[in-house]
Amino acid sequence: MRRLALSAVVLVWAAPAAAQRLIVIDPGHGGEDPGGTGNAMEEKDVVLDVCNRFRDLLDADSADEGGGGSWRVLLTRDSDEYVSLGARSSYANDQGADRFMSIHSNAFGDPSANGTETFAYAEGGNGAALRNLVQEEMLEAWGLRDRGNKTANFAVLRETSMPAELHELAFITNAGDAALLASDADRQRAAEAHLYAIQRHFDIGAYLPGSAPSVGAVAGTVIDDAGPIAGAMVSLDGAAAVAVGEGGSFAFIDVPPGDHVVRAEAADHQPEDQPVSIVAGQTAQIEMRLVAIEPSPDVEPDPDPGADDGPNPAPDPDADPDDGIDVDPGLDAEPVPAGPTGGLAGGCSAAGARTGGPQLAVVFYLLALLAGTRTRSRNA
Ligand SMILES: [Zn+2]
Repeated sequence: MRRLALSAVVLVWAAPAAAQRLIVIDPGHGGEDPGGTGNAMEEKDVVLDVCNRFRDLLDADSADEGGGGSWRVLLTRDSDEYVSLGARSSYANDQGADRFMSIHSNAFGDPSANGTETFAYAEGGNGAALRNLVQEEMLEAWGLRDRGNKTANFAVLRETSMPAELHELAFITNAGDAALLASDADRQRAAEAHLYAIQRHFDIGAYLPGSAPSVGAVAGTVIDDAGPIAGAMVSLDGAAAVAVGEGGSFAFIDVPPGDHVVRAEAADHQPEDQPVSIVAGQTAQIEMRLVAIEPSPDVEPDPDPGADDGPNPAPDPDADPDDGIDVDPGLDAEPVPAGPTGGLAGGCSAAGARTGGPQLAVVFYLLALLAGTRTRSRNA
C-alpha cells in the first residue's frame, strides 16, 4: 500500500502537466449569412476552412512533443451554420476561454481596396498584444498591404470577457487578395501565421508541429589517462561494436530519443558502460574514460627466485613438527601462483589449512584463472 502511494507520487513528479490554454476560434458568418462575397467566393466558406486548419495545427501542436504549446480548442461553429454574434461571445465566456480569435475576410465596393488588418476592442492589454502578433505574422505569411493594428467596437470583441482579436485576412473583392483567399497553400499559411501568433503571445517560440527532427546522435572519444585509445571498440545498446576513428573518436547517428548505453572496450582496459540520454535534433557528447589494467607482477620475472616468499618455506630442521604450521599437501598440489598471490597462499595456509581447505582451494583456483586471463589479455 505504501509502495503504491509512493509510485503515484513519483508519477506526478515525473510528468508535470504542461500549461494548457483554451482557445476559442471564431469563423465569421455562416449559414444564411455568407459575409462578404467576390471573385466567386463567399467569406463564410473561406474563413471556416482557415479556422479548421488553425484548429488542426493547434491540435497537432498539442500532440507533438518536439516544441510548441498545449491547447484545448473550441470553434464557435465548425460547419456552415448560422451562429449569432451574442451566441459566439456567450459560448467563449461560458467555456472560460483564455483567448478569443475571430477570422474574417474583408469586402468593399471598390475592388481596388486591398490588404490585411487586425482589430482589438481597445489599445493596451493582451487583446491588443495578440492582435499585433497576428497582424505581424499575417504580413509575413501573405505579404499584403499593411492596413494596420486597429480598434473597433465589434460585438465579439466587446462582449467577450477574455482577451480577443479579430483578423481580416484580405479583401475578397480584390482580385489580387482573392487569389490568396482561394489558394489551399495560402490558407494553410494563414492558419500557420495564427498558430505562430498565439504561440508567441504565450512566450512559446513559433513552432510548426511535425517539423522537429525525430532522431538524435551521440559522439565522443575513448581515452585513458594517457590519451585517446587507438583500436578501442564502441557499441550502442549491445549492437555490433565498431572501431574508433582517429583520436579515439566515434559517433552514432540517427539514434531514437531516449535512454541508451554506450560500451567501450579496449585491450588491457576494463570495459565501460555509460548511459546516455538522446534528445531529438541534438548530439550528446560523451567521454569514455577507460581504466588501464595494471600489469600483474605475477608474471614478471622473479628477481630473486631464492627469496622465501612462497607457500613452502624451506624446511627448518629445528622446527617442532607440532608447532601448528601445517602445510596441506592437497593445497600444494594446486598450481599456486607466485608473487603476492603466492604470499597470500602462504599466509593463509598456516591458519586456514585445517578448517578451510576446500574454500582456499577455490580461491587459489580463481586467482590462477585470473592470472591466466590477464596474461592472455595483455598478449592479445
Ligand atoms: Zn466578416
